[in-house]
Amino acid sequence: MITEEVLQKVKARYDLVRVVAKYTGPLVLAGDKFQCRCPFHGCGSPAFIVCPRYQIFYCFGCEYGGEVFRFMKRLRGTSFLETVRDLGREVGIEVP
Ligand SMILES: [Zn+2]
Repeated sequence: MITEEVLQKVKARYDLVRVVAKYTGPLVLAGDKFQCRCPFHGCGSPAFIVCPRYQIFYCFGCEYGGEVFRFMKRLRGTSFLETVRDLGREVGIEVP
């Protein structure tokens, strides 16, 4: 099983705003949050919100949200465990 410690360690190596921007293009700063179009549903309005402080996202269109693992899991179609392993490997952290 993956411990909370490992999860936090991997998560800390990613900036969710930058991860999201790779797939959606530049995000627009709105107050203390970033907005963009959702990569998961086809809507043209910027319903997708990323909070840099808490490193979480939420889409008001498809009501999907979470942290970097949930984002990449949905995007890549991998399981939660695979996603954590993949993201860990990419930054040199071994996930048991
Ligand atoms: Zn959406």
